[in-house]
Amino acid sequence: MLGQMMQQPLLISSLLVHAERHHGEREIVSRRVEGDIHRYTYRELAARARRMANALTGLGLAMSERVATLAWNGYRHLELYYAVSGSGAVLHTLNPRLHPEQIVYIADHAEDQVLFFDLSFLPLIAAVAGRTKTVRHWVAMCARAHLPADAAGIPGLLCYEDLIEANHDRYDWPVFDENSASSLCYTSGTTGNPKGVLYSHRSTLLHTYAAALPDALNCSANDAILPVVPMFHVNAWGLPYVGCMTGAKLVFPGPALDGKSLYELFESEQVTVSAGVPTVWQGLLAHVQANGLKFSSMKRTVIGGSACPPAMLRTFGDEFGVHVLHAWGMTEMSPLGTVCSLKPRHLQMDAQARYAVMSKQGRAVYGVDMKIVDESGAELPFGSETSGELLVRGPWIVDQYFKGEGGNPLRVDAAGHGWFPTGDVATIDADGYMHITDRSKDVIKSGGEWIGSIDLENIAMAHPAVAMAACIAAHHPKWDERPLLVVVKKPGAEVTKAELLAFFEGKVAKWWVPDDVAFVDAIPLGATGKMQKNRLREQFKDYALPTA
Ligand code: AMP
Repeated sequence: MLGQMMQQPLLISSLLVHAERHHGEREIVSRRVEGDIHRYTYRELAARARRMANALTGLGLAMSERVATLAWNGYRHLELYYAVSGSGAVLHTLNPRLHPEQIVYIADHAEDQVLFFDLSFLPLIAAVAGRTKTVRHWVAMCARAHLPADAAGIPGLLCYEDLIEANHDRYDWPVFDENSASSLCYTSGTTGNPKGVLYSHRSTLLHTYAAALPDALNCSANDAILPVVPMFHVNAWGLPYVGCMTGAKLVFPGPALDGKSLYELFESEQVTVSAGVPTVWQGLLAHVQANGLKFSSMKRTVIGGSACPPAMLRTFGDEFGVHVLHAWGMTEMSPLGTVCSLKPRHLQMDAQARYAVMSKQGRAVYGVDMKIVDESGAELPFGSETSGELLVRGPWIVDQYFKGEGGNPLRVDAAGHGWFPTGDVATIDADGYMHITDRSKDVIKSGGEWIGSIDLENIAMAHPAVAMAACIAAHHPKWDERPLLVVVKKPGAEVTKAELLAFFEGKVAKWWVPDDVAFVDAIPLGATGKMQKNRLREQFKDYALPTA
């Protein structure tokens, strides 16, 4: 017997409709690329998103076609989140920190039809426009008066505010299958090219419900949320959707992510919740500590993307009364997997024991199932001391990559269930709290952003004096990790560190260039001839990178 409840597809547009109807007066505040502070309401967001949806139709965009953005966190980017996905097209958030080569590759792979960009990225657009195969229109996210003269050379250039003005705000959001694709985000693969993760309306809505829960990101209509985590990285951890679902005030920092600018916005807008990678908080803490400042409204901050240092948890908690929620997830997981919300028994603990729990990555939010397995694939029980490979499954976890890239990523268990191998190595305690102990992948995470070690090795190996090169993560006080290039020279060949580093110029983004080179006689190889980077990491674990 079937249930007798209404069938209503879970669509992203319904979030906007809800926010306009029930939280129409709630504010959205953005620091703009233009330099000023912009403020409006959910009602105006909804009206402008409908105008933009009409504009997209006018540009001839069909269902499921991809619309790319290269943009900071701001209200126009938010309008595109709803206008693009809501109208049935797919929002493809490009990471502006990538090298132009990679942007061209990804835009071509995604077959982007229109690309919206913030003015800060004009030089990048100038470098890629004319090289991409499918982009028909480039849209500068500004008013015509702010468009610099040198933008004129970009073929098919349009101006965002012209599109808004030229279109009506009457638009009926189409109703379609909730499993339709809504947005696309590329992850940098450890091997080969980046792979696309294609989210659906259904996966996004389920993820939004889960993310807002009290034991997850804990967001309500009474919060003012400032996502520092970029809207180009896994949909800013879902916060732009949580805003509409809960009616929370949204505050966007634009390009100004330094401690001083963030602190000013936290205070002037009375922000209660924020979210970002540890590196950002280092800058913020340094600023407030150096100036003897306090937070007057901040209650919680979500820290994830890489491990939150225990000292940071304590500084936030003890010095500033800000509760840190340590969270873990992946692009492939929309991204939320675990949040370190405490259980009643933790609240009885002394501070030291409680901080030890809080430094773990946390427990699974409902919707995500996780387990750790040993080398034979057998599940390790919760509470065992041994760490194992972390596998996950759930309705907002990737099933396959866009266009089938990389084949089937899932591991099927005896019951026939597919599990996504995260590449992380972890323990899970008796209370279900997961703790990442290692990463089986070899990518380097600098300031919360991946650097592909294989790409760097391939470049180094192309140098005539290099016999073998391995790129590993070395600890860095500011960026967590930075690339260290370990090189074996060809017999009789000579090359200096500076010459090798100069060899990277123009081949990768500047921030991908290794910080230092270490020359060695040999790189350890495993049984199948693969470089054993874990041994190299051990050898260089105390390596001090030049900090200048
Ligand atoms: P991305 O897909 O770029 O978001 O990266 C996902 C990866 O970042 C995970 O597989 C982890 O290796 C790492 N990561 C994310 N959050 C954390 C965390 N809280 N602690 C340690 N590593 C993390």
